[in-house]
Amino acid sequence: MRTGLTELPLSTKATVMSSENTLIGPDRDGNYLQTEGSKIRTFGPSPSSVEGAVSCPDGQLKPGRVCAHTHLYSGLAPLGLPAPEIAPENFVQILERVWWRLDRALDARSLDASARYYIANALLDGTTSLVDHHESPNFIEGSLDVLGTACTELGMRAALCFGATERNGGVVEGRRGLAECARFVKSNHHPLLRGLVGLHASFTVSDSSIEEAGRLCRELGVGMHIHVAEADSDVADAKERGYESPFDRLVELGGLPPRSVLVHGVHATREQVLHGEKLGAWWVHNPRSNKGNRVGYASALSAANDVALGTDGYPAKMLEEQQALFEEAEAAGDSLSKVKSRQENGAKMVGMLFDLPLGQLVPGAAADVIVEGENGVMHVLVDGEWVVRDGRLVNADLAAIKEAAEQEAPRLWSLMATYQ
Ligand SMILES: [Zn+2]
Repeated sequence: MRTGLTELPLSTKATVMSSENTLIGPDRDGNYLQTEGSKIRTFGPSPSSVEGAVSCPDGQLKPGRVCAHTHLYSGLAPLGLPAPEIAPENFVQILERVWWRLDRALDARSLDASARYYIANALLDGTTSLVDHHESPNFIEGSLDVLGTACTELGMRAALCFGATERNGGVVEGRRGLAECARFVKSNHHPLLRGLVGLHASFTVSDSSIEEAGRLCRELGVGMHIHVAEADSDVADAKERGYESPFDRLVELGGLPPRSVLVHGVHATREQVLHGEKLGAWWVHNPRSNKGNRVGYASALSAANDVALGTDGYPAKMLEEQQALFEEAEAAGDSLSKVKSRQENGAKMVGMLFDLPLGQLVPGAAADVIVEGENGVMHVLVDGEWVVRDGRLVNADLAAIKEAAEQEAPRLWSLMATYQ
């Protein structure tokens, strides 16, 4: 009983406290993992005691997986997102006819259902961290709290930002997006959450918004999360504005502080990719999305080591994304040995954002741990807390989350149809 602890001698108290920490094992390799609060205390074949251990002889203890770039707002898409009436012929038309209509239709209710459906399935698949890039132009203020609450209630580690843009309401809309980032960064104290400053992309913002976003990053001590050179149209736009590329535009306007997250780089040069890494930024490769949007293969990313793997709104099934990466890399003649570290690199990137050792089963690292068997992920711990046990969510009911998502999806599709 917790209430009786104060009456116990100190040595006994310590024993009782440590028994509240989690011990998992032996796994199929004979290893045990013990947590101490939110951290890993020990990992290996010889625990000091096996009392109370959660045995998992059919599974293997592994670090949790990381999705280094995604969009929780598109979480309802697998539930029947309607195809546009006129098929898009290029990347900007895909945005205009699908995603920029969906994001304008979002409100607090549909966003909450979308986020919970996405997060629940991500956790069940062993993804313990998400780096999200959010946009809901008709629901800006407070939107990051909806996402943050969904993450913390289910037990997902996440770095959140609002992707500020001027594409609907000009500079004022851009300022409101940046203000939402600042509000969230300043108000968040939850250990599972971090805030970043976000811009949608170079081609939907003015110079002044980039300068303002850069100032905000330096003031708050956080990085920028932005799509860079996803399609050649982003590069053409930057040239029209008098810059060599969207990357150079960010650098010249002070919009690329250390610890930034640069997404895609499909049409970046190797020099730009390397320059970004030297400035302390990470690049994120999203091969399924790049293939789906027919924007090309991000071959220049192999110039850098600090490259992680994201899904860009596709479900956060990181092994499927990795498989897509291998297939796309092979087809493009890219070095498999160079790209194979990207999935595991996500933990290093998120570790940087959280100032935490992450992605290794070593003492002192964050206890974001999965047990994976032949038939999938059995157990998941995030920050030392159980979030999936025996293949079921601990903090929520998947059936209820699915039901809410299935109710919200048709409402969202109807609202989308009103935005042309
Ligand atoms: Zn994206």
